[in-house]
Amino acid sequence: RSGFVAIVGRPNVGKSTLLNRVVGQKVAIMSDKPQTTRNKIQGIYTTDDAQIVFIDTPGIHKPKSELGDYMMKSALSSLNEVDAVIMMVNAEQRRGAGDNFIIDRLKTVKKPVYLVVNKIDQITPDDLLVVIDQYKDALNWQEVLPISALEGNNVEELLNELVGKL
Ligand code: GDP
Ligand code: MG
Repeated sequence: RSGFVAIVGRPNVGKSTLLNRVVGQKVAIMSDKPQTTRNKIQGIYTTDDAQIVFIDTPGIHKPKSELGDYMMKSALSSLNEVDAVIMMVNAEQRRGAGDNFIIDRLKTVKKPVYLVVNKIDQITPDDLLVVIDQYKDALNWQEVLPISALEGNNVEELLNELVGKL
């Protein structure tokens, strides 16, 4: 079993952190500053019977220039070439315009899209329910998965879910 999975989401939600954890070596630059990851960076998760190539796709946000517009379109087209897409959101924040912009773009994607709610180590179970409620009807999610990319909570379950769909 093998396939490609793209990760999208606003800057700083934890895309690189998940990617780094999953591939077991640092391939993406982590930073508190938004948009440090300029390029699509791939990391490979390998087990005995499965292989997933992850693509960190930081270019999908409201373009501020023509170059930005071009980069967003190329990032978007790459989403139809993968087997699944992870939309990551920050459990600490309310759903905002930046999330909605990405969700609107994902409506044209014909592949399974997983909603991954990250940073659950920072919130209470009650707050998590509120966050999930904000997103659950926004798109036809394949699955909604709360995780902590930093501490590893539920990351194994996410990987099993992805591998199961390949
Ligand atoms: P990206 O811009 O989406 O690639 O986000 P990064 O992976 O660079 O993470 C942005 C910041 O969030 C970094 O300071 C990370 O350490 C932090 N972060 C990422 N995942 C988690 C998490 O699950 N819990 C907590 N508490 N912090 C996280
Ligand atoms: Mg990043």
